[in-house]
Amino acid sequence: HAKLFGGNNYQFYHPDMKIISCNPSALEADLKQALERQELEVYYHPQIELSTGKIIGSEALVRWHHPQEGSISPATFVPIAEANGSIVQIGEWVLRKACLETKALQERGFADLQVSVNISGYQFNQPDLAQNIQNILIETGFNPQSLELELTESIVIHNLKTATVIFQDLKALGIQVAIDDFGTGYSSLGYLQQLPFDKLKIDRSFVQNIHQHEKTATIAKSIIQMAHNLNLKVVCEGIETLEQEKFILENKCDFMQGYILSGPLAIQDWENFLLERRDK
Ligand code: C2E
Ligand code: MG
Ligand code: MG
Ligand code: MG
Repeated sequence: HAKLFGGNNYQFYHPDMKIISCNPSALEADLKQALERQELEVYYHPQIELSTGKIIGSEALVRWHHPQEGSISPATFVPIAEANGSIVQIGEWVLRKACLETKALQERGFADLQVSVNISGYQFNQPDLAQNIQNILIETGFNPQSLELELTESIVIHNLKTATVIFQDLKALGIQVAIDDFGTGYSSLGYLQQLPFDKLKIDRSFVQNIHQHEKTATIAKSIIQMAHNLNLKVVCEGIETLEQEKFILENKCDFMQGYILSGPLAIQDWENFLLERRDK
């Protein structure tokens, strides 16, 4: 226990004490140092192919272990990192780490393993995005065909011209591209015919309520059908219950990610998960 202030003001530190008040500008300052202080970690959320039950790979999800606040969700700190530009460095770090760790697993017997990495709007607007990605692929020796990038609809809609050029570069490298959180952004569908996406990830909100709301189920079914008619593979995110799993199986969704299978895993747990499933 430490006495921090003079007089009668005492503040006690306890290892699992968390400061409740999250001050964004304090967080912002901390975030700038988080990389150097090695407070960031990449977790892997398993993705399964529904027709075969095969694990095809994972989505890389960044985690921040703040020394005082504890674990801070990317939903909180990614927007802060976007506002101050540090998302570029963080994004490159996540990509490099995901490539290196996935490559190590490929070399340990999981040769076909893929990894999918989220790209934020700010990163997408960097003119050297494709070049930076290529540099990281060369530096890590990672096979571009094992890499997928996730972009949300709003990112590409706001930059349709730029997107067209970036997609050409990414496709030339052999990288796959997925639309993330489909259905939650803008209702324009025009970009689907303009950009060569490979996959569509249906947002969790559509599968969460399929059993309470008939209309939600109808929308989810229609999205899957539309995607297939456009030759896109479909990933359903956020599958938690058997009912939801049954629904997406019946409606021929291609892949799923969800707590019913596993939550996002730290690298060692991810490897153990793969080993256990292989031994079955
Ligand atoms: P996202 O890309 O849509 O990722 C899916 C989120 O849904 C993840 O949350 C994942 O843990 C969660 N999820 C998946 N299945 C289930 C389920 O069955 N139940 C529940 N309750 N949750 C499920 P997470 O890791 O908190 O990430 C939130 C968002 O933060 C991501 O949404 C993504 O937009 C962003 N993010 C995460 N990592 C990165 C990154 O490295 N770079 C960028 N730019 N954004 C990131
Ligand atoms: Mg994602
Ligand atoms: Mg998503
Ligand atoms: Mg999201």
